[in-house]
Amino acid sequence: MHAQATKSKKAIKVSPIKTVNPATNKLAKEFDVMSHDKIDEILAQADSAFQQWKKTSFAQRAELLHKVAAIMRERKEELGKLCTIEMGKLLQEGIGEVELCANIFDYYADNGAKFLADKPLETAIGTAFLSYAPIGVLLSVQPWNFPFYQITRSAAPNIMAGNTMVLKHASNVPQCAAIMEDIFAEAGAPKGVYTNLFVTGSHVSKLVGDVRIKGVSLTGSELAGSSFAAEAGKFVKKSTLELGGSDAFVVLEDADLDLAVKTAALGRLWNAGQVCVSPKRIIVLETVAAEFIAKAKAIYQDIIVGDPLDAATQLAPLSSEKAVQDVIQQVKVAVKDGATLVYGGKRLDRPGAFMEPTILTDIKPGMSAYSEEIFGPVLCIYAVKDQEEAIRLANDTVFGLGGTVFGTDTAKAVAVARQIDTGMVYINHTTGIAPELPFGGTKNSGYGREQSPAGIYEFVNEKLIRVTTADAPY
Ligand code: NAP
Repeated sequence: MHAQATKSKKAIKVSPIKTVNPATNKLAKEFDVMSHDKIDEILAQADSAFQQWKKTSFAQRAELLHKVAAIMRERKEELGKLCTIEMGKLLQEGIGEVELCANIFDYYADNGAKFLADKPLETAIGTAFLSYAPIGVLLSVQPWNFPFYQITRSAAPNIMAGNTMVLKHASNVPQCAAIMEDIFAEAGAPKGVYTNLFVTGSHVSKLVGDVRIKGVSLTGSELAGSSFAAEAGKFVKKSTLELGGSDAFVVLEDADLDLAVKTAALGRLWNAGQVCVSPKRIIVLETVAAEFIAKAKAIYQDIIVGDPLDAATQLAPLSSEKAVQDVIQQVKVAVKDGATLVYGGKRLDRPGAFMEPTILTDIKPGMSAYSEEIFGPVLCIYAVKDQEEAIRLANDTVFGLGGTVFGTDTAKAVAVARQIDTGMVYINHTTGIAPELPFGGTKNSGYGREQSPAGIYEFVNEKLIRVTTADAPY
């Protein structure tokens, strides 16, 4: 009886690693969680690949990355569609993401050797320089919101630097995860240079202590990041964290109001609002707040929400049933706490994780909407009396990822940007992405940088080599 009960329990166990199309909420594909032995085999392979990969020339590594870029460009429609099917984003956004990834791979292929060349140091006696050596197998944990871009900005610089990587992707984008390993193989990567791991989020921290893992990075929520980094600290391993954000979008007195409204309102709908650097808190002066809100509402009333594969659609579903339920609940709690629902707030009457574009105002300190990150298409507009209050409000958050200052006087906008405590501030644009520009945050948004020259130095041994004489005083 007992044995039978155990058996039937096992039979109904489903893997959390699966594709559920958010436009239909239907299960499309399921993958098994890897066994302990399989994970061990992958780590051994990645470690042994490192022993060879670290000896390859920059030219060889660049050749691999250029090939990966070329394959991604060639297959961009297929890969973009896979993003849509797995996490719901608009097809055009998915294709654009794949093109960006190709550019990032090319960027590190073209510049990696220059970034990692020996760096001479000034010294009074003898000569000294820094040399950059790879450190080994890296464990990279990534979220679903940009299924290919998140992998790319972690993999491209580190593989160029001579490290090898095991990638644990979010459980809801397994096909994107698996196809990336295939692309590396097709590009000619030796086995073990880049490998996908099918493990769950709750399990991956257990791998941090493995002696073969030499560095770890996680992009995702604050909760996951803190427990993952705690584990890294326990085993004295270098870590980087790219976590959540609650970016302010500060509209200065001299801003072009129509342009500011359009940029903020449409920017908030990018990726259905599921972007770490989405403009989550719009801060405008009291004198123009009513006009700003009315204009934002006019834009949202005309937004087409629907099939993400349809080119006419402007707002895609959220990434999952749970995601849409969570965001709707956050909106409900905000209203219960006293915020004003200006527009939207409901899910669509159709299958799938769809919700209306939403506008909230009158959010005050003490409400959960004031301090929580809302990961969905919810435009939160705050009215302030002057620029000083705008800066204070922009900084009144545990997060410090990106932000925007909108204004026609650039010098003034830059002066305001300097006072915002985040890792990135864009003037007259929502926080964006470019291979050559650093990406990362401060405060609870994490530490470390990806992209740009900075991204390649996170997981290398910056080694001092000094040539001097035995009688030198130090
Ligand atoms: P999440 O739950 O933290 O998941 C992110 C990744 O971490 C997934 O691969 C997940 O695996 C894994 N994970 C979950 N719990 C873990 C744990 N205890 N230890 C180690 N790994 C764990 O994040 P999410 O809510 O899906 O993603 C959205 C969040 O990511 C937002 O806060 C967003 O702002 C942030 N984000 C930040 C950046 C940035 O660059 N700063 C970029 C994109 C997103 P499973 O899927 O298997 O649970």
